[in-house]
Amino acid sequence: MSARSEPSLYPLFADLRNRQVLVVGGGVVAARKIAALLAAEAVVAVVAAELGERVGAWRNAGQLRHCGSAFAPEHLDAVWLVIAASDDAALNSRVKATADARRVFCNVVDDAALSSFQVPAVIARGPLRIAVSSAGMAPVLARQLRGRIEAMLDDSLGALATLLGRWRLRIRAQLPELSARRRFLESLADGVVGRLLAQGQPERAEAALAAALSGADPKPAGRVSLVGAGPGDPGLVTLKAQRRLQEADVVLYDALVDPAILALARRDADLIATGKRAGQACTAQPAIHALMLQHARAGRSVVRLKGGDPFVFGRGGEELAFLRRHGIDCEVVPGISAALACAAYAGVPLTHRAHAQSVRLVTAHCRDSIDALDWRSLAADGQTLAFYMAVGQLEQVRDRLLAHGCKPQTPCAIVENGSRADQRVLLAALAELPEFARSHGVAAPALLFVGDVAALASELHWFGAPPRVASAAAIASAA
Ligand code: SAH
Repeated sequence: MSARSEPSLYPLFADLRNRQVLVVGGGVVAARKIAALLAAEAVVAVVAAELGERVGAWRNAGQLRHCGSAFAPEHLDAVWLVIAASDDAALNSRVKATADARRVFCNVVDDAALSSFQVPAVIARGPLRIAVSSAGMAPVLARQLRGRIEAMLDDSLGALATLLGRWRLRIRAQLPELSARRRFLESLADGVVGRLLAQGQPERAEAALAAALSGADPKPAGRVSLVGAGPGDPGLVTLKAQRRLQEADVVLYDALVDPAILALARRDADLIATGKRAGQACTAQPAIHALMLQHARAGRSVVRLKGGDPFVFGRGGEELAFLRRHGIDCEVVPGISAALACAAYAGVPLTHRAHAQSVRLVTAHCRDSIDALDWRSLAADGQTLAFYMAVGQLEQVRDRLLAHGCKPQTPCAIVENGSRADQRVLLAALAELPEFARSHGVAAPALLFVGDVAALASELHWFGAPPRVASAAAIASAA
């Protein structure tokens, strides 16, 4: 194993502020390198026969100096680093050889073997930098890893690092003993301070840091995140939801949550089903409240995981109010609600300049909720209705809409298991909807769209099986 084929690089974070760096080349590749150098406040000089658009703009704005079209050894006189980013391999080699002779570190773009330093893939959070390098052996793998790490780390870590930087001396003065200081610092990221920063409350975070440092608040506080899991496709889980699942001690999840999404939870998290599904046994809401409270009070990180979005027919509002009333630290992580996901995956644009200027999210869960609706306004033209929990009530929905003036041929789409591998889409005119759904054995979870845009699914569908169409009337207004 020669050193040349498998270098073991020494990582280095360079402070380039006010230090000169030379870039040879003025094209797109050079521009990428220059952008990072300017962000690090380096003094950039460029040697290139021609400057591309971006590099030219920086030169015109006085952000870098163009010091000639032909590379000469003198160009290296004042520089700390050089990057050879021209598309001329011979020139790049010459730059490298000259740099070596002067002991100036040189990166030759896309040529790890020739380079004396390499530029890693970077994850940045405020002053934090995580650099990934494969020493040029597997740059694509390094970039992939960078993507995964990006997904794991909350944006608020940057604010935490900045805060700790400002408090460093005070913390050291207060906790002179190293191991105590380390324990204290370690507790911050996952404790109240880190959480408050993640909740966008820097002043409270700083106050909590001060309190913790003065020993006022030693007990770990639990918290509850009300997290939307989206409609089923794990790819539709937000990064934040994924992070919360990875930090969770306890996950209280609803029946609609896909197992593939539960699999994102930390491996030793406690997974507790609180399944609620029409007609099936479920944990009653007060029992769910009690569970959240019990685990949060024991200092645990609780994720209350709900299908779709917690605030759309998910009783998230009630749960948040309950937690706030009991002084529990909480947050809400929105999810992609079924109406948005089913519309997208079925090819039903919810709004459309020609067909729908508004969208209404409606529940048609049971007789009571149906009777409470303002059917006259629901029957109006120019809007899209998205009915949640409507599979069992299709007759009632149809009859009321017709009775309030909706046209019998109004297009309807039912999306069953939206965004999942077994998604089905049915298109029917309003008048024929319940019979058609029954003949296809439609079951929950399914979402009903009513409005002209529903007919567009016949052309715009792209996911899973093509829609089943009841009659020509169902898609007439798509034309
Ligand atoms: N909070 C959830 C809704 C919960 S109510 C959200 O924002 O999506 C449950 C209803 O949501 C179901 O009866 C069904 O109408 C709808 N629903 C949830 N997931 C669905 C899916 N994958 N496909 C179709 N409908 C879905």
